[in-house]
Amino acid sequence: MLNVTPIPAFHDNYLWLFQASGTRQCGIVDPGDAEPVLRYLADNELELGMIFITHHHGDHTGGIGRLLQEFDVPVYGPHSANIPAITHPLAEDDTVNALGETFRVLEIPGHTLDHIAYFAEGNPPLLFCGDTLFAGGCGRVFEGTHRMMHGSLQKLAALPPDTMVYCAHEYTLANLAFAHAVTPDSTLLADRIAREKARREQDIPTVPTTIRVELETNPFLRCAESDIIAAAHGQSGSKVSAPDEVFGVIRSWKDSF
Ligand SMILES: [Zn+2]
Repeated sequence: MLNVTPIPAFHDNYLWLFQASGTRQCGIVDPGDAEPVLRYLADNELELGMIFITHHHGDHTGGIGRLLQEFDVPVYGPHSANIPAITHPLAEDDTVNALGETFRVLEIPGHTLDHIAYFAEGNPPLLFCGDTLFAGGCGRVFEGTHRMMHGSLQKLAALPPDTMVYCAHEYTLANLAFAHAVTPDSTLLADRIAREKARREQDIPTVPTTIRVELETNPFLRCAESDIIAAAHGQSGSKVSAPDEVFGVIRSWKDSF
């Protein structure tokens, strides 16, 4: 079983460190900044064994070079000309054995074209999904299409409901404020907003979340549900019903929210 710890970086990033219980070996996901990682490793007498990368953005990759100066470790990540440091390029359904867990690779383009996620069927299952699925929201569609991003989110939505979802930013309260604008009558959402606000007031991360919670309250995973379709109608002023079109309307709405 892996212990997963957030290392806060920049303004609102989480760099996820995973460690097999009872060992000093660990891995790091998306080290945008090396310094907080090196500090954590030194403070806890840990040894870095591997780096996982989800996509090419600098706040996910900027610390790789510095970490490699200290630790000669494999760097797993997508086939991407934008990330020359990757030593083990990965594609859909590839597996990575790391610290006793087997991670399966999911290609989830949309935020960037090279975006991948890492899923392990542990107990509970866990997912490192970078900037694609967020607690209460999803990443901006910078490089792909709305249809592509919707397909990627649907792939994540089909994972086991108890999957622990480790996304890369603390954006939850802003995401939920938008979700409330989309589905103002949802009591599940109102309950979640109260719960997550209480966490943030105590400076507790709202991540990880679970697929179950996201299926209940995240509008971007619910584009085939009648309340989201109705909200998309209201926003666009025209009839949209295909889930990827509904997604496009909701995502564009969030871009200017
Ligand atoms: Zn990104």
